[in-house]
Amino acid sequence: MLKGKTVLITGAAKGIGKAIAVAFAKEGCNIALNYRSGVSDEVIAEIKSYGVECFPIQGDVSDFAKSKEIVDTTVERFGSIDILVNNAGITKDGLLIRMTEENYDSVLDINLKGTFNMTRHAATYMVKERKGTIINISSVVGAMGNIGQVNYAASKAGVIGMTKAIARELASRNITCNAIAPGFIETDMTAVLKEDIVKQLEDQIPMKKLGKPEDIAQTAVFLAKSHYITGQVIHVNGGMIMC
Ligand code: NAP
Repeated sequence: MLKGKTVLITGAAKGIGKAIAVAFAKEGCNIALNYRSGVSDEVIAEIKSYGVECFPIQGDVSDFAKSKEIVDTTVERFGSIDILVNNAGITKDGLLIRMTEENYDSVLDINLKGTFNMTRHAATYMVKERKGTIINISSVVGAMGNIGQVNYAASKAGVIGMTKAIARELASRNITCNAIAPGFIETDMTAVLKEDIVKQLEDQIPMKKLGKPEDIAQTAVFLAKSHYITGQVIHVNGGMIMC
């Protein structure tokens, strides 16, 4: 069903983005793998081991012109862009009264503006084709807030609003747009959390454990196969919040 489709995933060198790339490769999709600082040969080889193409494209999604280049390069290389996954994201945590303007701006620039930049350019192509799937990675924090993450929570709540607006705007063009809101997932992003914080988090999660990147990847594949779901937020969080 997804075999032969082109999937562009941002920030896919590791963590959730890499797991999403592997999951789509297993479905027979060709992968345009965006990365910022670098991607290992092992990751590219692992994706290719499923018999698909994997084309790495360097670029910072917070840069509007660069985002256009990433989209254009994908279309030039594969002839299409069927599925866009806006996964690239960062945290720069700190309490509100100590948060610097720079740490606020950089998180909003990458997490929210980056999602706009990539979708803005990919949608131009998808609208012409009259089809497409857009999947945005938000966060449980965008729905419930979190101490020390005013910038991150604002960016991820913004992604949810943006997802719904895009879904309404592009639905008549046969383009779906949904968000996945992961809970706490075992990646480098959460590896910085101290043991006692992880314990506290686990206590708040009915399933009593953090999620795996594959839990998010499997939801992305599900959404790509679902043609009548749009404008939704799929919470994947072990029951941490129930909306
Ligand atoms: P991660 O392991 O830190 O990976 C994030 C990836 O995004 C990295 O490969 C990073 O590349 C890339 N990236 C950062 N800024 C970028 C930019 N400007 N342009 C292109 N790529 C960029 O984090 P993760 O946990 O997999 O997170 C993936 C997504 O899930 C993020 O949007 C995050 O907010 C979201 N999320 C994560 C969790 C969690 O618990 N892990 C929970 C909810 C939501 P470099 O390393 O080269 O900078």
